[in-house]
Amino acid sequence: MAGSKVFFTGRRATSPRKSLQVKLEKLIDEVELNRITKKGDFVAVKLHFGERGLTTYLNPVFVRTVVDKLYGLKAKPFLTDTNTLYVEARHNAVDHLRIAMLHGFSYATIGAPIIIADGLKGHSSREVSVSGKHFQSVKIAEGILDADSMVVLTHVKGHNIVGMGGAIKNLSMGCSSRAGKHMMHASISPEVIINRCKGDGACLEHCPVQCISLQEGTAFIRDDLCIGCGECVTACPHNAIRINGSSDGVLLQEKMAEFALGAVQDKKDKVCFFNFLMDITPHCDCHSWSDSFIVPDIGILASFDPVAIDQASIDLINRQQGIFDSKLKGNFSPGEDKFHGVYPGLDYTVQLRHAEEIGLGNRSYEIFEI
Ligand code: SF4
Ligand code: SF4
Repeated sequence: MAGSKVFFTGRRATSPRKSLQVKLEKLIDEVELNRITKKGDFVAVKLHFGERGLTTYLNPVFVRTVVDKLYGLKAKPFLTDTNTLYVEARHNAVDHLRIAMLHGFSYATIGAPIIIADGLKGHSSREVSVSGKHFQSVKIAEGILDADSMVVLTHVKGHNIVGMGGAIKNLSMGCSSRAGKHMMHASISPEVIINRCKGDGACLEHCPVQCISLQEGTAFIRDDLCIGCGECVTACPHNAIRINGSSDGVLLQEKMAEFALGAVQDKKDKVCFFNFLMDITPHCDCHSWSDSFIVPDIGILASFDPVAIDQASIDLINRQQGIFDSKLKGNFSPGEDKFHGVYPGLDYTVQLRHAEEIGLGNRSYEIFEI
């Protein structure tokens, strides 16, 4: 079997008529967005507006290009994301809209309204039935469920707990309410390695719920308050905090795949995915900084299959030469696994395997370069 179709346009832009924006327009035409939407449809354009301090969120020009194409189909697009578990710039809809505007996403710049899909405080969701290994139902944001169709725009990058973040992560963590995010994160519990801890307190500053304190010169984490975000693992300069038990990241990835399935369950043939392989950082866009890229920019992919587009993204990333002055610790050569080179202990392929097992999509694909 040939697998799902994935369309690709490369990063090179050599003239005004071959600018990246023009190439994205051609990619949108090639994938035929009219297959997923019709006149009058409410189309959720799902993206991540970027945490405060992050500089590698999706370029608003690309989002505007997608929105204009949707208007050309006489659809009613709106930009959307969900609130975060942790208390930062995207914790509620008011703060979330403010950071979106500060990052260049507003009606004035994009031409479409922004609707935070899980409401003012992240409580607006409905149960969706799934036949998963971990869940029989998941909590998906109402704004996602109420939309007639969806265009999912994903900045592909690494992730400190699940190894990589692509379309599956955007659909799962990005389309669930706060309660849903809790259901996924519940299995994550960080642990301090006492003999490595220097007591410098760097982790305290990064914990979004202030559940770390110093006790007798050593970091102490209150498990009852921890939301399992993993920020402290990244923040510790001495590798003195680890995720407790090697299966936690595996469990989270399997749960993510089941939430991703729930997010698109009622939208058969109504969802299109675009993965942007640019500014490929080691951390996710929930971080409040952007580290150096681990590989050069590659281009943009489009598909109707979230699993195929993530697999194709990984394969293209792995073909690149790794960037030496980056968080990459090994696997620099073309053909070597880059996200594994950043996070040697994490197997990010779990999310793809489980997603395929539960019927979200297909890991095999055929790529069409335009
Ligand atoms: S950042 Fe690391 S070394 Fe510093 S207090 Fe926290 S756990 Fe200990
Ligand atoms: S994972 Fe770490 S940073 Fe996140 S809430 Fe728990 S202790 Fe705080």
